[in-house]
Amino acid sequence: RPITIPAAIEAAAMIFRDAPAVIENGETWSFTELWARARAAAAAFLAAGLKAGETVGIWAPNCREWILATLGAQICGARIVPLNTRYKGREASDILRRAHAVMLCMTSKFLGTDYEALLQDEALPGLRRRIIFGGARPGGWDHFIAGGANIPPQAVDAALNAVSPDGICDILFTSGTTGAPKGVLTTHYQVISLFHGWAKLMTLRAGDRFLIVNPFFHTFGYKAGWVSALLRGATVVPMPVYEPAQAARLILEQKISFLPGPPTIYQTLLAEKAQNGLDLSSLRVAVTGAAVVPPVLIERMHGELGIETIFSGYGMTECGVIAMTREGDPVETVAGSCGSAVPGIEIKCVDDKGNTLPAGVAGEILVRGYGVMRGYLDDPAATEEAIDKDGWLHTGDIGTLDERHYLRITDRKKDMFITGGFNCYPAEIEKILCEHPKVEMAAVISIPDERLGEVGKAFLVLRPGQQAGAAEIIAWARENMANFKVPRSVEFRTELPRNAAGKVMRVELRNHK
Ligand code: ATP
Ligand code: MG
Repeated sequence: RPITIPAAIEAAAMIFRDAPAVIENGETWSFTELWARARAAAAAFLAAGLKAGETVGIWAPNCREWILATLGAQICGARIVPLNTRYKGREASDILRRAHAVMLCMTSKFLGTDYEALLQDEALPGLRRRIIFGGARPGGWDHFIAGGANIPPQAVDAALNAVSPDGICDILFTSGTTGAPKGVLTTHYQVISLFHGWAKLMTLRAGDRFLIVNPFFHTFGYKAGWVSALLRGATVVPMPVYEPAQAARLILEQKISFLPGPPTIYQTLLAEKAQNGLDLSSLRVAVTGAAVVPPVLIERMHGELGIETIFSGYGMTECGVIAMTREGDPVETVAGSCGSAVPGIEIKCVDDKGNTLPAGVAGEILVRGYGVMRGYLDDPAATEEAIDKDGWLHTGDIGTLDERHYLRITDRKKDMFITGGFNCYPAEIEKILCEHPKVEMAAVISIPDERLGEVGKAFLVLRPGQQAGAAEIIAWARENMANFKVPRSVEFRTELPRNAAGKVMRVELRNHK
């Protein structure tokens, strides 16, 4: 068969057969069973009239039906558009419209939210069918699957054989940190080539038990999550909501060996272990990134949790994974850098004129290779702006490469500002401000200044019970950072505006200054 996500998982099913593919609520599906169920889902989509090139929305927390819906739709040559579970009705319907979704597989209720009710009043003329996960009722998943019973196996094979490796397999939306979320088009071949290499690099292998806490609607829960696990013959244990005590119990019961996640989950696991003394020694590999990973945390993950290998990395929706540290890298490297290019990816840092910069000099990070998206959904102008004629994707992130080609990210291009001729990186200034004993969180933006062009303004959230004035903070900043970086004004807030991905929305701070 042509190389596609479902065909690659079918190949894995032929090799790993009776090995456990997915474990949820104590129930195990073997690779053979998972693949049979994926085919049944495809038959149901065919019976429901899904055509190649059409789009199926998926709006649900991590669960096994999510995997079946994806593989079923992709066998039919359709693409999926995963929706963030934190979206409200308007955001979800906006994305479904923009992606021209014709069917939607979704959860009914989750964490006290009635998802069906969220979409009740939204006009979605293109949506022909809604399928509710986990239900035997009419319109539920079981009912939907039963609808495919009369589709002959040959029809499913024919559909899968007709899917091109260059066909679009999904439309993932960016987190919307710098503006409205953008739809990213990716092909089957890109996912397989990039993530097969990534999974191998991460030493993911048959026998591993992979607890997936990263959301399936994001690259790290989906492609670097269950797709990578299944390709390598590892077992997927989906976790719908991260909760430390429950995670610790799952690690113990299911002998979890592979656990990627943001740094906070390891922090909470350490606290959990300290309190309840659970044996978490099955953990073998951790993969982290996207936020600063303190070296002490890495030491404790090795020492107290017994995790042998810890990787950190860098990725973005437009290019999946870009850089990763390697097995055996010292703690300082894992904490201080996000590694070097993964197989199939090239990285360079350039100045404003596009000249490649020498080691250690900060500039925009450009990447090229397998992983780079086909383009933004229905936006050729934005695509042309993002990917130049030589195929380099302009990431909008600022960073440096060292002599060994290890990458360090300093900030986002959109957030950088210039004070009296000096480049200021808000992320760096925020990091220093957070070292002030009274400061809990900080966000820095630029405001116009007659004399210096632009100067920094800080929004601070103080630690509980603390009081401070702007003058006190500014005086402290003068002692602790170069003069041009010192924010000229400070505003205190009780919280910072964040998007669904949990990232601070500087745009909002700029608009409400
Ligand atoms: P939008 O593009 O809609 O503004 P976004 O860029 O936050 O949102 P994602 O694609 O989910 O959406 O996130 C990718 C971005 O996350 C990268 O471009 C980078 O800015 C940041 N990032 C990823 N990994 C790291 C890391 N290890 N260190 C620092 N920043 C990182
Ligand atoms: Mg982005």
